[in-house]
This record gives sequence, structure tokens and C-alpha cells, in this order.
Amino acid sequence: MADLVVPDARHLIDGEWVAAADKGELPVLDPATREVIQPVARAEPADVDAAVAAARRAAPAWAATNPSERGAALRRWADLIMTHVEDLARYEARDVGKPLSGGRLNIYIAHGIVDYFAGAADKLTGVTLPTRSPDYFGFTRPEPYGVCAVVIPWNVPAVLTAANVAPALAAGNTVVLKPSEVAPLAPFALVELARRAGLPPGVLNAVTGLGAAAGAALTAHPDVDHISFVGSTTTGRAVMRAAAGNLVPVKLELGGKSPNVVFADADLDVAIPAIVGSITENAGQNCYAGSRLLVEESIREEVTGRVVEAMRAVRLGAWDDDLDMGPLVSAAQHERVLGHLAEAPRAGARVATGGGSPGGWYVEPTVLDRVDPGMRVVREEVFGPVLAVQSFRGTREAVEMMNDTDFGLLASVWTDDVSRALRVAADVRAGQVSVNQFHDAGVIGFPFNMQKDSGFSRGGGYGALREYTQEKAVAVRLLDR
Ligand code: NAD
Repeated sequence: MADLVVPDARHLIDGEWVAAADKGELPVLDPATREVIQPVARAEPADVDAAVAAARRAAPAWAATNPSERGAALRRWADLIMTHVEDLARYEARDVGKPLSGGRLNIYIAHGIVDYFAGAADKLTGVTLPTRSPDYFGFTRPEPYGVCAVVIPWNVPAVLTAANVAPALAAGNTVVLKPSEVAPLAPFALVELARRAGLPPGVLNAVTGLGAAAGAALTAHPDVDHISFVGSTTTGRAVMRAAAGNLVPVKLELGGKSPNVVFADADLDVAIPAIVGSITENAGQNCYAGSRLLVEESIREEVTGRVVEAMRAVRLGAWDDDLDMGPLVSAAQHERVLGHLAEAPRAGARVATGGGSPGGWYVEPTVLDRVDPGMRVVREEVFGPVLAVQSFRGTREAVEMMNDTDFGLLASVWTDDVSRALRVAADVRAGQVSVNQFHDAGVIGFPFNMQKDSGFSRGGGYGALREYTQEKAVAVRLLDR
């Protein structure tokens, strides 16, 4: 019997699980069966007000807490995550529809992030400034903003909870978290563990509700001091307008259209499985998903053929079948992706494999060959297991094609040539680059940065502590007494 249970239809406000002010509820669905897992509370502005007020009351004492104690509280949270990996993995996997082992991996990542910021909490320092003479002294103090709003999407909810809440708390802020109404259960299970870890009431609050009501109320709230938003580029623009209304800083982590770029000298035995994993992991519903494949012309046939073969071998199933790929998260998402799949062949793409739905909210792993750079499936974030293949000749053309997108999240380069890899890393307009692997495996505290329409942030790693602090500069004249 699991001892970690998310209560039905409750928000966490001021350390207590409470019903929504108007008793509103929303169903949370299992994407495989499309059955209700449980109801969650539907926040209206009154609930958001209560959560922000609790965070405001808790802010001065939390900011004044010895940072080593803040770190110790985060470490207790991290330890509780490790002792509840299976419960958390089930929440994450069932809610999003991803295979259980994928959910488990996400919980390990979330644990690593909380653990990292537990260690970092008491290592945040200002600087001593140079002065014109010994009669002056200047320094900076990193200070928390106060109340941070964190709004996240449904695709990797446990990781995004950890990645935004942990640095905010470590730096001495209090938080109001609004997970997506589509997948709020893993975030709620995590905040329950934070409560058990002994975070003082009000330091971490969580409300769920619709974006247009709860999300909008939170991001426009006049008593919020900093906003972290992770989600679509369209909503990101709305959140930035809300932030402008109150003149508060905003961190935006938005969509992507990340390329895997394969040069003829790449080790294909390493590259092919990684490329396929990058677009089928979480059914392609990742911001950094490798949704564009750019192949050097001389190996185009070989790479496309091997990718198609590997895509056909991907096994689909419900979260508890624990195969390779689950369904998409919702009917709306399924309809959107199928719309792209219907349009692409009409626009001239060749469907090399997949191209439809085998039923339910599943989508077949799909490879679209001969795509044109102007096609919607190349330009827009599909957010499904759909790979668009293009080819290039030489490094210069590869970089041009990599940069021919509105987005700038991740770019992965596959080559044996170090100087070419570093040339591409320098010239590509993306916040993150990986070489001979997809994303950041093996690197601790990898900054989760973005450029262009993918947003801007210093998320992930030590930079995230700076993101959640403001710098105060102090100048002193040393009087001769
Ligand atoms: P979304 O923008 O629809 O929703 C994200 C969150 O914003 C949800 O909690 C939602 O309730 C809330 N929201 C909706 N309208 C709002 C409004 N007007 N004001 C305030 N909040 C509002 O995104 P989604 O469909 O949940 O998630 C998919 C998107 O998230 C994709 O574009 C994906 O690339 C992006 N994403 C980005 C990153 C990253 O780090 N860059 C990570 C994961 C997902």
C-alpha cells in the first residue's frame, strides 16, 4: 500500500491540503484508458489569492533562515523523493501516459536536481568590488525576490517542479506552483513530500486549475515578485504581457524544434538509437525533442533507412505495460498531431513510416522524408513522435539549416571531427548544444538555456540560483574615526 497519496480535489496552501474556495474540481485522465484517475481542485482567483498571501506571509522568515538550514530542508526533501521513487514514478507515468521506466527516470532526475540545490543553497555569494581608494568599500548581496510564481506544463511535470521550485527555495524565495491541469499529480505528490520534509507552512504552495483562470490570475497577481513559466511559445507571450503589467522579471522556457545533425563521419551505431529515442521518448512530447533530422547528403539513404527500421521497432503501450512509447497526453494533442500528419503528405512530404494512429490517443512513430524547409511540419513544434528529415552538403549549409527556425533550444551534432563540432557549437543559435549524444548525459548542473522563440532563462545548474536572486549593490565610505 503506497503511503504517498495525493488527496482528491485539494490545493496545498499554507501547509494544509484545502478544497477550492468554490469547491470546483477537474478530472485528471489516464491517457491510455482515457478514464479518470482522480479529481483535482480547480482554482479560481480566490484560491490563487490565498496561496500568494500564504507565500507572502512566509517570505520574510524563509529569506532570513540560515541558508545551510534551507539546504538541509531541501536535502530532507531529496531523501524523501528517493524513498518514494516508485510511488512518484507511477504518478508521473500514469498521468502523462509515459512508460513506467520513463517515469522512474524522471523521478531520479528530479531527485538529482533537488539534491544539487540542497548543496548549493549555502554557496550563493556576492562580490567585493574594487574601489578608488582604501577609504571606500563596495560589495553586492544576492537577495531573494520574495514570492515566486511557477507555472509548468504537463510533459515532464516532476522534473519541471524540481527544476523551478528547488532553486527558488534554495535562494530564499517562497513559491506558488501551478502545475498543468492535464498532469498535476506528480507535482502534487512532490509538494506533499516537501511538506513532510518540514518546509515551514506557506513556503511552498501549489494550486491547480485551468490556465486561463488560475494561470492567468497567478501570473498577473500584483503580489508576485518573479515569474517562471514553462510551456508553449504562445502562452509565454501572454505571460510576458502579464509580467509587464506588474513590472516583474520573468523566466520563459518555451517550445523547440531541435535538430540532430549527422555528418558522414559520425558513428551511426551510437547516433541512430539516440536520434530515435530523441523523438519517441515521451511520445515526442518534449520541448527539446529531436524533431528535425539533418543528414549529410552522402549518407542520407543509409541514415534514413536505419532510422525508419528503428522507428518501426518502437513498441507502443500503456504506462504499466512499460514498453517504449505511450499515447499522447490528451484528445486535443492527438488531434493536433494527426492534423500535421494529414497535412504533410499533401504538402509534398513522403511518409517513410508511420503517419497515423493505431487507435486511442496513440500515434505511430513517424518519419517524413523529402520535407521542404517551408512546411509547417518543419517550422512548427508538432509535439508528437514525428521526425522530419532534410539533407545538407558541408558544415556551412548544415549550420544555415540548423538556424533556419524560429526556435533556439537544443542542437545535437554527430561527427568524429572535434573542430567541426566546436565550429557548429559556436555558430548555431541555440541555448544548448550536445556532441555525439542527445542532450546533457554525464554533465552535472547543465544549464537549461534557450535562445530566440524558445525563451530566455538561466534555468538549471548554478545559474538558476542567480535567476532566482536579485543583486543589491552596497557602497560604503570608511570614515576616519
Ligand atoms: P501551455 O502553454 O498550454 O501550458 C503551460 C502552462 O501554462 C499550464 O500550466 C497552463 O495551465 C498554463 N497556462 C495556459 N494559459 C495560461 C495563461 N493565459 N496564463 C498563465 N498560464 C497559462 O503548454 P502545454 O501544452 O501544457 O505544454 C507544452 C509546451 O510546453 C510545449 O510548447 C513545450 O515545448 C513546452 N515546454 C517547454 C520546456 C522548456 O523547458 N523549454 C519544457 C517542457 C515543455
